[in-house]
This record gives sequence, structure tokens and C-alpha cells, in this order.
Amino acid sequence: MTNIVGHFIDGKRCEDHARLQNIYNPATSKVTKQVALAGKETVEEAISAACAAFPAWRNTPPAKRARVMFKFKELLELNADKICQLIGDEHGKIVHDARSELQRGIENVEYACYAPELLKGEHSKNVGPFIDSWSEFQPLGVVAGITPFNFPAMVPLWMFPLAIVCGNCFILKPSERDPSSTLFIAELLKEAGLPDGVMNVVNGDKVAVDTLLHNDNIKAVSFVGSTPIAEYIYTTANANGKRCQALGGAKNHAIIMPDADMDNAVSQLVGAAFGSCGERCMALSVAVTVGDDAADAFIQKMQNEMKDLKIGEASEPSNDFGPLITQQHKDKVVGYIDSAEEQGATVVVDGRDITVAGYDEGFFVGGTLIDHVKAGMTCYEEEIFGPVLLVVRVENMQQAMDLIDAHEYGNGTCIFTRDGEAARYFSDNIQVGMVGINVPLPVPVSYHSFGGWKRSLFGDLHAYGPDGVRFYTKRKTVTQRWPSTGVREGTLFSMPT
Ligand code: NAD
Repeated sequence: MTNIVGHFIDGKRCEDHARLQNIYNPATSKVTKQVALAGKETVEEAISAACAAFPAWRNTPPAKRARVMFKFKELLELNADKICQLIGDEHGKIVHDARSELQRGIENVEYACYAPELLKGEHSKNVGPFIDSWSEFQPLGVVAGITPFNFPAMVPLWMFPLAIVCGNCFILKPSERDPSSTLFIAELLKEAGLPDGVMNVVNGDKVAVDTLLHNDNIKAVSFVGSTPIAEYIYTTANANGKRCQALGGAKNHAIIMPDADMDNAVSQLVGAAFGSCGERCMALSVAVTVGDDAADAFIQKMQNEMKDLKIGEASEPSNDFGPLITQQHKDKVVGYIDSAEEQGATVVVDGRDITVAGYDEGFFVGGTLIDHVKAGMTCYEEEIFGPVLLVVRVENMQQAMDLIDAHEYGNGTCIFTRDGEAARYFSDNIQVGMVGINVPLPVPVSYHSFGGWKRSLFGDLHAYGPDGVRFYTKRKTVTQRWPSTGVREGTLFSMPT
């Protein structure tokens, strides 16, 4: 102590240490660093730097912008160990999982390397006599990203590489709970050759976010985080005339059909439910079993599988998952398990009193399995964001689908079955944005786009991929005619056809 994590503005570290917040190592509960919380002036300094950098960056050929991303990808790979260690130290994510997170982020950088192809536009010759028309996709200007704690590398990488290759300048406001890996990654862009001011990082809290939301020079905001904040960001950004995509929370259900390969379903779900301590927006947190036989078989096999879960600190690769992010979050997760018991559910495997040798003070909760959960219970209605798998028993597939459709969230879902027709009916009709068939975490690859439905996403366009290109650009359609000698055809009063 005390290392202070500051800001990165106009290619330089920036000191604004008026307000500080502790950063913990969640495996030990010790304060290891502090993060500077930017004031309004610091955020405005970042916006000014981005505005100054925009005209030249906008006119830099897309191929040259893409070359920066090729180099950036190389630097991310070279520095992967350091990035994963920073993630582990502040988030508690086990090193192999941090590697996967980083790899998924790098895939978004690879997609951004296609910039010249992605920005080619659309062209039509002879839309009328001697008239050509084309649509081009112009950058918006200065855009902002506000990101959550649970993917400090991947979620920022969903945003800024694409925004930047599209010709925008970027202000990133990472989570204040684990900001070091994000800041380190952003600084690599300078080494990759990005001009100063194109990428800026301001650490902070609501003060920084509200400054971004109310500043006229910010043209668009990408947000990922919890639903109440996503809704606030979306409505405030819209009220201030900004384009906004705000991705929120989730409650992801897996239907276990009676014909499912139960061994496969259980081994898939154990990782999807408990990986990263359940702190994933795509965590599979509800198993909906169709028929009591399927429920009993599922629970028995899941109990067996959970005996082998290994919980501990981030740098030990044999661990399956680590601690929760803060003591406050641990209390909240334990509170949900208590409430499930109080409201009539059965706690089959209880992770509340787990101890991890050598890490007595860490924010650990063990894998927890709860049976006989019903709609209306607090643990079912709200996002727990911890290593807790709920089992809801239903009698048929339609009941399972109705349950999923009635939930306020619609991020991800999946079905385990051997029946192709049932799977097809499910994927066609379910009111959820990302669907898996025998795949529990159907996270779209970088050349598709990521987003939920209902209260899991506010906005029209999903994150990254083709939707990301549309989000970070505005269409301009040009219609052109070059008369050969003045107004050769005379004046037209009807629309040319
Ligand atoms: P959070 O909403 O607490 O914070 C997200 C960001 O918003 C942070 O940068 C934070 O500083 C900022 N923020 C927090 N409170 C604010 C306020 N009152 N005003 C303005 N800004 C504020 O989320 P979190 O706890 O960091 O992340 C976990 C949540 O994110 C979960 O709900 C999870 O499901 C969700 N998430 C969703 C996705 C997705 O793609 N849908 C992906 C990852 C995480």
C-alpha cells in the first residue's frame, strides 16, 4: 500500500487524487491499492483531448487505423501473463479463466482489424438516369464506454477497438473495483502507435459517469452493468440526445428435457453455473427440469459433480473458481440463499460456510444447489451473481418456456435435449436474445453481436460485431449527378424513377 491507479488522458498518466477508493484482493480481503475517482474537470480534460484528436483520426485511412489494431493484438498476447495477473489480483478470477476472458477480448480486436472491409459502404449505380447513390458510414465523434467489474478486460475490448477503427475517439470509464488490467490494456494502445487523445481512460464513479452523460461532445455511450444502472444510463443518455446501448443483468435458464444426455448436461452446467464464481452475465443460474425423473437424476449427478469443486485464489490453476468481488457482495449472495430457505426451497448443497485454507478472510462462497425453487421467490426473481444454481421443477416443455418468457431478463438460455424438433421449436420461439442448444453459455463470437432481450438490454443494437459497427457509425447517403452541360434535361418536378 498504497499504489494509486489513476487516469490515462491524451497519452499520459494523469493525477487527480482528490477522491480515492480502496481496491481489495478478494482472496485475502486486504486493501492492496486505491483507485482515483475522477472529478468533473478531469473527465472534461479527457473529452477535450479526444475532441482535439478527432479531426485527424477521422481522416486517417481505415487501413492505417486497422494496422494499429494488428499491433495492439500482438501486444495483448505478449502481455497476457501480466494482464491475467492484474485481473486475478483485483477480481479473484482464476488464471485459466482470466486467459479465456482475454482471448475472447482479443477476438474483438481481430474483428476490428477488418475495418477497411467493414467500412466499405454500399454503392448503387444508376439509381436514376445518370444518378449514382451510395451510403457511407461516418464516425460519430467522441464516444464513451462504461464497464462492469466482472470482465475488466473483455467487456472494454468489446467496445473501444471497434469504435476506434470506425474513426471515433474514446473515453473509457472502467469499473472502480478492478481497474488496473483495464488501464494497462488501454495504455498498450500508445505502444501500438495510436495517436494521443484517441483513447482515454478516466477512473471513477457516478461523478465521472454523469459528467460523460451530460456533456454535449459525447455522441454515444456503450454501457454494460446491472439493469437499474443500465436503465438510468439509457434514459439519461437519450434525454441528452446521445445514442446509447446499455446491457444489463440476467437470469439465464437451462431447460433439462427428459431425453437429455444427463451426464453431458451436468458436466456442462457445473462450469456454466459456478465458473468465475457465478459472476458472469451469461452464468447459467437456473436449471428447469422437465418431469420429476429428470429433476431427481439431475440433482443426484450435480451433487456428485459438486463434490470435486476446488475453490481458492486466482494464481492456482487447479482451482475452479475464486472469491466474490467484495464482502458486501458476499453478504448479498448469502442473503439470497437464506431467503430461499426461508421461502420454502431446499438447499441441497450449501456453500455459505466454506473456508479456504490460508484465506480465512477472503470473500468466498462455495457452490450452492437449491431445489424446489418457484417463481415469485426472491432468489428466483433477482440476479444473484454468485455460485448458486437453482432448480425449478416443471411438468412439460411449454411450462418451462412460459417460465423463461415471464422473467424480466432475457439475456441467454439453453436447452439440453436429443430431440432436434424440440430444440428448433425452443430456439424459434423463446423470448431471449442468445440461445444455446446443448451449449450452456451461448456467447456469440466476435463476428456476430452480443445482446439480450427484455430488461437485459436497453437500446436497438447489440454489442460488438456487425451491430457494433452500426452503433459506432452514422449512415450518410449521397446521391450524385454530374450534368454534362448545365441542366441538359431541363427541370424535373416529379421524383426521378
Ligand atoms: P454496476 O451496474 O454496479 O456497475 C457498472 C458500471 O456502472 C461501473 O463502471 C460503475 O462505476 C457504474 N455505476 C455504478 N453505479 C452507478 C450509478 N449510480 N450511476 C452511474 N454509474 C454507476 O455493475 P457491476 O456490479 O460492476 O457488474 C455486474 C453487473 O453487470 C451484473 O448485473 C451483470 O449481469 C452485468 N453484466 C451484464 C453484461 C451483459 O452483457 N449484459 C455483461 C457483464 C456484466
